[in-house]
Amino acid sequence: MRGLVQGVGFRPFVARLADRIGLAGRVRNTGGGVEIRLEGTAAELDRFESLLLSEAPPLARIHDIISTGGDAEGLEDFRILHSGGEEGASQPVTPDIATCEDCLREMADPSDRRYRYPFTNCTNCGPRFTIVRDVPYDRPRTTMSGFPLCEACAAEYTDPLDRRYHAQPVACPLCGPSLTLEAPEGRVLSSGDEALREVREALAAGRIAAVKGLGGYHLVCDASDEEAVRTLRTRKGREGRPFALMAPDVPAVASHCRLGPRERDLLTSPERPIVLLARREEDTLPRSLAPGLHRLGFMLPYTPLHHLLLEPAEGMPRVLVMTSGNLSEEPIAYRDEEARERLAPLADLILTHDRPIHMRCDDSVAALAAGGTLLHRRARGWAPMPLSLSFDAPHLLAAGADLKNTFCLAREDRAYLSHHIGDLDDVATLRAWEEGVEHYARLFRVEPEVVVCDLHPDYRSTLAARRLAEERDLPLTAVQHHHAHAAACMAEHGLRLGEEVIAVSFDGTGYGTDGAIWGGEFLIASYTGSRRFAHLPYVPLPGGEAAMRRPYRMAMAWLRHAEVLWYESLPPLRTAGDEERTVLDAVMRRGLNSPPTSSAGRLFDAVSSLAGICQEATWEAQAACELEAAADPAEEGGYPFTFSEGILDPSPMIREAAGDVRAGLDPGRVSMRFHRGLARGITTACRAAREASGRGRVVLSGGVWQNTLLLELTLPLLEAEGMEVLVHRQLPPGDGGIALGQAAVAAARAATGEVTDTTSTRE
Ligand code: ZN
Ligand code: ZN
Ligand code: FE
Repeated sequence: MRGLVQGVGFRPFVARLADRIGLAGRVRNTGGGVEIRLEGTAAELDRFESLLLSEAPPLARIHDIISTGGDAEGLEDFRILHSGGEEGASQPVTPDIATCEDCLREMADPSDRRYRYPFTNCTNCGPRFTIVRDVPYDRPRTTMSGFPLCEACAAEYTDPLDRRYHAQPVACPLCGPSLTLEAPEGRVLSSGDEALREVREALAAGRIAAVKGLGGYHLVCDASDEEAVRTLRTRKGREGRPFALMAPDVPAVASHCRLGPRERDLLTSPERPIVLLARREEDTLPRSLAPGLHRLGFMLPYTPLHHLLLEPAEGMPRVLVMTSGNLSEEPIAYRDEEARERLAPLADLILTHDRPIHMRCDDSVAALAAGGTLLHRRARGWAPMPLSLSFDAPHLLAAGADLKNTFCLAREDRAYLSHHIGDLDDVATLRAWEEGVEHYARLFRVEPEVVVCDLHPDYRSTLAARRLAEERDLPLTAVQHHHAHAAACMAEHGLRLGEEVIAVSFDGTGYGTDGAIWGGEFLIASYTGSRRFAHLPYVPLPGGEAAMRRPYRMAMAWLRHAEVLWYESLPPLRTAGDEERTVLDAVMRRGLNSPPTSSAGRLFDAVSSLAGICQEATWEAQAACELEAAADPAEEGGYPFTFSEGILDPSPMIREAAGDVRAGLDPGRVSMRFHRGLARGITTACRAAREASGRGRVVLSGGVWQNTLLLELTLPLLEAEGMEVLVHRQLPPGDGGIALGQAAVAAARAATGEVTDTTSTRE
């Protein structure tokens, strides 16, 4: 049996099942899975197989079962055989998983020895990836190595029929980690249950605490306390970006947000991501938690400590802010020394414990869109689960992109996409990238023979990849950004070598083969290469990168492109003021510091500003997120786009929107008309691409596809044209998934010897 069947309690489960049916046999781990030998009647064996699938441990993922018949050896019992790790074989490491129901029951039982123990776990739950130092996954190679098992724990650990058989982080109050509450300067205030009680009281009194979790520290405060939320924003240096929230259970979340069955399933899944949920109109939590947005990001407790922290009680906070413990832009703090230093100025108290975190890992973020999961950030709960490739890769490293970086290591048909690393413009994040690469390479026994990077010559990830390639004397291959997006979606869906698709790669920014900033691209793509079939027109990015924080500048560039006068009554012009207007006019006319861009993200910025929604952005994609949030679903109109000679031109849309805004149309209706118009425009371009290429399959990739509204408007239009549409379900559509695409392209080039990148020429 192949799949995720090791380190998840699979062999003991098989042993119990065989016992129940009365089958004799053996089970053992092999390099790539589990091998079971069974002796019994055909009926017994059939029963075994069906129960094997229906009752498998919650964390197991069976990819395939290969069965062969043979002669019975006359075995008399069922036994678990121990297997030595195969040299050089890639051993699976499972993600960290939310506390299971069985463990919660024990924690709630006063007669249980793990009553209220904040580090309770078993084979079906608990830390994994964040505590593993090396493989094979065994206690001495985890950060639990410093905690010798007590007699009772050792008995559970060695009993094949116990739920804690070979559960590496197994612990109890007698032998395991414990809590301490510290003042910011390091003085110990209390420990154990007392520490928990004190921190809860402090939170109820409006204080901010740093709390050590699975993959790092969180900064925590009472979410209903406006004052505490404001203090946290000031200290963290985070003006408007939404905060993640944690509530004790589904009903508590449902009192603030609208939940359907899919939302419930995602919230309660073992991965426990932060789920973006539609906020109820009557919700009373402070607006400042997510200014300008229609959704709140909620997660449920995923460690025993979280359950205890949120235990409902009179006067205690019902909802907590749980934001990553760092200054804005820095990576999440996870080492105790470093955390104390960095978090002391931010927190009033530090609730910590003595189980070290070996690998930092942020919370994952997901939403529901078009009937499925849409990942915004892939980290805890997913990483480091490998993705399957439909063809073999040489050992390789793909560096990813600079924003929302993840990297990817691959070998054979497995791709190990890393957890979210962050934005590489920070030195600490760059170090996290380097440490991460080394750690994954060791865990999964990947010795890169090829290094892959983005085509952008100045990306930090490109520079890091080049350095690594030079040090190890390895070939370096570059992949155009939007081709990599397309390939990521193709690889996620298991498309085969040689297949060709229409790719709508829409994002904020990516280096084009002509040196311009691309981002509104229609490609005809295979793994080995892509042709640029069509794109949004080039407009100047006035003043360069600075325009990204000033959506009103993009609006002015687009108004100019569409030949609309800069009417003073339009919101972007009011924001710019006389002086800046004169300067920008000159800058754009002469093309000074105004690189051409076909970015779809910047078009969203422009419309957000034009509609009067967002003029200045303090975080990436703010203008686009607020534009989406504002859209009025009752509006049925859509603005026109034109398509000719490979250009999808929004000029008519800009002209009509400007007229609507001047006539005082509600921003929510302007937003909806834009989204609907763009969905139709994309459909028109895809229809043309199909006629030209004969391809009927469309992949939607790039950060713009995190926009649920655009996705849900576009999908049915393309499907109504008879096209097959592939969207991201296991990877973020944005740059957080691009490393998989880079890996797939490099692997395909290695397999075929082809480099067919003609992205610069239009068909
Ligand atoms: Zn458990
Ligand atoms: Zn113990
Ligand atoms: Fe991108």
